[in-house]
Amino acid sequence: MAVNDPQSRPPPFDWESWYEGIGGRSIRVPEVEHWFRKIFEEQMPNFAGPVAAKRREFGDPAAAARAVKASARAAGADLVGTCRLAPEHVYRGREVSHTHAIALAVRMRWRAFQTVPSPESAAEQARVYYELGRVCLGLAGEIRGWGYDCEIGHPVGDSNLLHLPIAIEAGLGELGRHGSLIHPELGPLLRLASLAVSLPMACDGPIDAGIGAFCDSCMACRKFCPPKAIPDDRDPGAGKDPQGNDRYRIDTGRCFPYFARNYYCAICLPVCVYNHKEWARDFEGHKTKLFPEVVMNEPPPVFDGIPETERHAYPKLGRPQ
Ligand code: SF4
Ligand code: SF4
Repeated sequence: MAVNDPQSRPPPFDWESWYEGIGGRSIRVPEVEHWFRKIFEEQMPNFAGPVAAKRREFGDPAAAARAVKASARAAGADLVGTCRLAPEHVYRGREVSHTHAIALAVRMRWRAFQTVPSPESAAEQARVYYELGRVCLGLAGEIRGWGYDCEIGHPVGDSNLLHLPIAIEAGLGELGRHGSLIHPELGPLLRLASLAVSLPMACDGPIDAGIGAFCDSCMACRKFCPPKAIPDDRDPGAGKDPQGNDRYRIDTGRCFPYFARNYYCAICLPVCVYNHKEWARDFEGHKTKLFPEVVMNEPPPVFDGIPETERHAYPKLGRPQ
């Protein structure tokens, strides 16, 4: 199995050099550092685990998918879906030999995005990354206990798996103009993770809830993006979405430098119209604003320090329709 063989993998993206290129790290939030420390020190060393010798037989793929989804929800996932693993779900230069993927999403709290970007919104993103680690570890432990190996793909660190295409293929939502997943009911305030597993499961498929079509006439995220990283139009060079339309492509050379210097930005998420405003009236017992206060700091110069060899081309480009 070629999964995660540290000898054969290309090196992970060199974030420290990248940060240096934009003038160094500037976000120092103790709560963010607390969550990241817990992810790196408590969770990541346990991402690999023993697999039970005796296999549980599910009878049919639908039963296996039901068991996986029940376990994912019990572990704390807000959304879970399944799909077959395809080459476009894996980072370029990486290899995953499993056959199926499990897409997982955990909600971020609307109340943490009342002012954005802010230390509170940054801490909420880090907290949900930790939550995703908990969900992944819980589900992976269950699956390994059933006698099936699996690989955890966590959004922090050096994952082999591309969570967004997996989530779209597994029916968790549609791709919005802002480049993030939008669920028809839970909106875009989500963070994603994935598991790769060789367990034959019934698969979900991409959904069409009219979200991508709505983005064509909505520019809210575009208007509030300080460095103008969100496009006016779909990009014929960015591959196709499951509906066969050209995708929107975020200008990462504009987004990342702003994101990296302004509390992981994320302005485009709470301003998205797919946030349900009834949450604002009484969200988990906390009355909140109907619309966030958006801090529009001066954007830094455009910087795209990602070497050509390390860029991820959209592999669905030219996919047969
Ligand atoms: S995270 Fe901020 S900079 Fe990046 S696309 Fe969203 S609003 Fe724009
Ligand atoms: S704010 Fe509007 S255009 Fe942007 S992702 Fe949300 S629905 Fe689409």
